[in-house]
Amino acid sequence: MQIIEIYKSLQGESSYAGLPCAFVRLAGCNLRCTWCDSEYTFKGGQRMTLEDIEREVHRLSPDGGLVEITGGEPLLQEREAILLMDRLLGRGYNVLLETSGERPLDNVPPAVVKIVDVKCPDSGEGDTFRIDNLPWLTPHDEVKFVVASRRDYEFARAFIGEHGLGSRVASAILSPAFRKDATGSRDVSHCLVDPQALAEWMLADGLNARLGLQIHKFIWEPSLKGV
Ligand code: SF4
Repeated sequence: MQIIEIYKSLQGESSYAGLPCAFVRLAGCNLRCTWCDSEYTFKGGQRMTLEDIEREVHRLSPDGGLVEITGGEPLLQEREAILLMDRLLGRGYNVLLETSGERPLDNVPPAVVKIVDVKCPDSGEGDTFRIDNLPWLTPHDEVKFVVASRRDYEFARAFIGEHGLGSRVASAILSPAFRKDATGSRDVSHCLVDPQALAEWMLADGLNARLGLQIHKFIWEPSLKGV
């Protein structure tokens, strides 16, 4: 597989946020979100065998726990990514998969927790979520919307309602987009939507969703990679 990095940090942006997690970041992405903070994944990386990856995950997390397969878009390497998920599940890891939902999800092992990042209009990649994937979302999966504007919020609100996410998945998460060139202070000044405004919109609408913050950007320097 083509791998950008494998590292251990705290899970940053789901209902697992704050828990220790080994990350396996795969190379390549077929989208180009305007606020993408992972452009370094688009090219390069190194070839690693499934055995090498599993060995490194085990070195980082010998006692099990969370492993997140992320990217880029990990399902661009679907065949090997699924073999890797099966191997990690077999070793007792709790496996998370971060994906845009643009690639088919039907072959993802059911025990994997899918964190699906449905793209809102201001990402520049709206309408890329594959609607055929909806039946493959399960009650332990999560759907995330990165919100850069009121328009994005309204898109997320409509999507949650139209597709019954409140009962379909464990969490629908709205997360303020971060400026991709954010550096320096570790605070909300880099958010494209003020979290307070987003919280107030959600409360005003009684939205059945969770407000998420990318906690790693408040813990470490926002431009830091591998955290
Ligand atoms: S899907 Fe993820 S990695 Fe790809 S461009 Fe969008 S934010 Fe970046």
